[in-house]
Amino acid sequence: MSSLIDPFGRTVSYLRVSVTDRCNYRCVYCMSENMTFLPKSDLLTLEELERICAAFIRRGVDKLRITGGEPLVRRNVMSLFRNLGRHLNSGGLRELTLTTNGSRLADFADELHDCGVRRINVSLDSLDPGKFNDVTRWGRLDDVMRGLEAAKSAGLEIKINTVALKGYNDDELDDLVEWTGREGFDLTFIETMPLGEIDEDRTDRYLPLSAVREHLERRWTLEETDYRTGGPARYMKIRETGKRLGLITPLTHNFCESCNRVRLTCTGTLYMCLGQEDAADLRTPLRMSEGDGRLMDAIDEAIGRKPKGHDFVIDRAGADPAVDRHMSVTGG
Ligand code: SAM
Ligand code: SF4
Repeated sequence: MSSLIDPFGRTVSYLRVSVTDRCNYRCVYCMSENMTFLPKSDLLTLEELERICAAFIRRGVDKLRITGGEPLVRRNVMSLFRNLGRHLNSGGLRELTLTTNGSRLADFADELHDCGVRRINVSLDSLDPGKFNDVTRWGRLDDVMRGLEAAKSAGLEIKINTVALKGYNDDELDDLVEWTGREGFDLTFIETMPLGEIDEDRTDRYLPLSAVREHLERRWTLEETDYRTGGPARYMKIRETGKRLGLITPLTHNFCESCNRVRLTCTGTLYMCLGQEDAADLRTPLRMSEGDGRLMDAIDEAIGRKPKGHDFVIDRAGADPAVDRHMSVTGG
């Protein structure tokens, strides 16, 4: 079957799947404390999610990332990993990965590896237990540390994702580089993005990664690399630790020209761009028939509408979120 090529000639080869909008944490930049989640009846079943993934794989998508919300809180989610892992064996899929807050990794690390997962992203914004609890509201650093240990022992490669937050973790940047270097993890810093209403003003916490880089360069030697994942991160190598450092700067740089990804929500909505509202409903065509003809047509139609880029702006004049939905819906 033909591959998915958008109107700007970009081949779509990467699907991110948010398997739940729910989470056991309430990170301050991501969610408000009192979130209203989708009614469970709106969710696709794990079998339906797998069917959509399989359709994308047939159309040339070779990388899947499972995300959320917190994917590891969805009941029975390992059956999805198990079934998707089969596509690794049959050659359609090159990589199956996961983004998680790490809180339940200790329970699932071995099984993830067994299903064919080799690399995971774990979000962690502070190495201080008190601050970790402040930013996640409901999280405990201990749980994540145990999860990371388990993931390491299971043989999973780990990248830590840290949202750079002014007045919160800007005094831990060097510690994070040192700690990840020691543990053998890669590290990516992310700028806050204006997605969804939260309880505070994001501009108060916005820390441009140019400032992060400037700070790090006082102590570390950052070597440019041409390593790219097709995503928004630029990767450097930290000479002293030998590990990779990624900087995701959706607000200060434009990364859209090389975008190879689309995002599926747990209700079967396909977002062609993280920073735009336009979306396609795949649930209806999926449920209309047992065959995948209508689903394939809907996917083609959606890819034909993939926009050229996003237009995020965080500024004081426009403190409203650029996009109403939370990151936990589209899964970052
Ligand atoms: N719960 C999982 C986790 O935290 O890794 C997966 C979903 S979470 C939405 C994915 C990533 O998005 C996390 O690294 C999180 O820090 C990041 N994130 C959430 N809201 C964000 C925002 N408004 N701006 C930038 N990054 C955000
Ligand atoms: Fe949950 Fe991840 Fe959002 Fe934190 S960033 S509230 S862990 S979905």
